[in-house]
Amino acid sequence: MARKLVVAIDGPAGAGKSTVAQLAAKELGYTYIDTGAMYRAVAWKAIKAGRPVTDEQILAAVSDIAVRLHYDGKVTQVFVDDEEVTGEIRTPEVSAVVSQVARLGPVREKMVEQQRHMAEAGGVLMDGRDIATHVLPSADVKIFLTASLEERAKRRWKEMREKGYDMTLEELEADIMRRDKADSEREISPLVQAADAELLDTTGMDIAAVVRAIVERCGR
Ligand code: C5P
Repeated sequence: MARKLVVAIDGPAGAGKSTVAQLAAKELGYTYIDTGAMYRAVAWKAIKAGRPVTDEQILAAVSDIAVRLHYDGKVTQVFVDDEEVTGEIRTPEVSAVVSQVARLGPVREKMVEQQRHMAEAGGVLMDGRDIATHVLPSADVKIFLTASLEERAKRRWKEMREKGYDMTLEELEADIMRRDKADSEREISPLVQAADAELLDTTGMDIAAVVRAIVERCGR
């Protein structure tokens, strides 16, 4: 049997990471770990304490949070303190505060420790912003997935429409730009392509082609 690899996929918001990473993991028989979902879970808990969300609220939320991802080979269910929040972490409200949450050291330390632990056994495909640069710097395969801003906004727009949210393309473009700026400019583990990561620009590619490209890089 082929050696079970550790695969890191990073990239900006809306690049389609979770869609293609999930499908590639299924094809490889690997566990998929959505690290964005973990930061969203912390944001969700902080919002529950009231808005506007303060750093104190975020630190209180993360101090005793238990985030659990359950990947059944198809979809990832997300649990916060044993409550299922899979759908609730993908709302515009959570997207609006998640970068504020993800910039804080204590939040990142706790999530990264858990992420490294989950990758220990190998056979994992993990996606996020700092996986290749910080969480798993010795990953076997490192991919930086991106697409043009227009295409990323369009993909998000379709996704949000399917979920019943009435957001304009302009609103989604603005949200993506704001999040990418915050994620790239933060002090701790900013979003950046690792020097040894391969750039995969998926503008104009369909999902199947991107999945194939990832699986190929894993030697299959
Ligand atoms: O991937 P997704 O868009 O769900 O991530 C939500 C947010 O979580 C990102 O905008 C970023 O602020 C944060 N994040 C991070 N590091 C990761 C994954 C996500 O800071 N590894």
